[in-house]
Amino acid sequence: MIFQCENCGGNVIFDPEKGTMYCPYCNSSNSEADTPGAGLICAGCGGELPAGDFMSACKCNYCGSYNVIEERVRGEYAPHLVLPFRFGKKAAKEKIIAQFKKKRFLPSTFLNDAYLEKMEGNYVPFFLYDYLCRYHFKGTGKKVRVWTSGDTEYTETSLFNLERNMDIDFSKIPVDASIKMEDGMMDLLEPYDYKALEEFREKYLSGFLAERFNMDSDELSIRAKEKAKSDAKQMARSTMSGYQSIHTDYEQADFDLKDTKYSLLPVWSYKYDYGGKKYRFHLNGQTGKLVGDAPVSYKKAAAYSGTVFAGLFVIFYLISMILEVF
Ligand SMILES: [Zn+2]
Ligand SMILES: [Zn+2]
Repeated sequence: MIFQCENCGGNVIFDPEKGTMYCPYCNSSNSEADTPGAGLICAGCGGELPAGDFMSACKCNYCGSYNVIEERVRGEYAPHLVLPFRFGKKAAKEKIIAQFKKKRFLPSTFLNDAYLEKMEGNYVPFFLYDYLCRYHFKGTGKKVRVWTSGDTEYTETSLFNLERNMDIDFSKIPVDASIKMEDGMMDLLEPYDYKALEEFREKYLSGFLAERFNMDSDELSIRAKEKAKSDAKQMARSTMSGYQSIHTDYEQADFDLKDTKYSLLPVWSYKYDYGGKKYRFHLNGQTGKLVGDAPVSYKKAAAYSGTVFAGLFVIFYLISMILEVF
């Protein structure tokens, strides 16, 4: 399905800054009418869509229309919630440029508009889990006191029984349900402000790429529970201070699943290939947080270190560049 402008027939897309549907061809707002598609065939030109097995929204290679694939956003694949993009491609490009323009050792084409223009906004499928967690901890805390009297040093070791029972309500623990998306990347892109989640509507996808979930919600719940258990452990530990060491004698976390929401979260992605390597940058489409590692042009770095004092500076610069990207 595509959203077509009733005024000019152009492809209407969702404009994140305006928060409305927008026709870039005649500048109309909310002028869309939906033209149904047929499976993986573009509703604009009849061409085959590059949708693979899992994409639920994609751009036609032939006519450039943004299609939403009905059977991948309805029925069992209907998302409960979506967090709409908060900024469009222009702002996404500006954020990348602002982050990298002062980096001296980037390849010269890194910030070329021809590359940046290929950025796409992706809605990544997530499951958000609500759990009641009952966390039980038993352990031994050790305190050691050392003092000297005359010529003798005394050491007093005291052991304390520690026990904590906590009931913790976890709300919306996110786990991405996309095989393609690197798990580490998605964890780094957090946090999202889930208060901005809205009821899913198909029109939000127009102008973006999207995937339907392609991993199993029961299997992914194991990762959600691991995250919750580790948070519960930290919360319990934060109530036990003043011990030299704490030994865990017994630890148990039981979970009641209260709710699972299938949701789409926004990510801008920039792909850049250099020196036979693929570099991938992702921007949290709500907060603008940037994740990825930058390519280094060794030609530029070497030329720079040729000057008298630059040697040390280069080392620091490379280190700071790696740190600053995150
Ligand atoms: Zn129009
Ligand atoms: Zn087409």
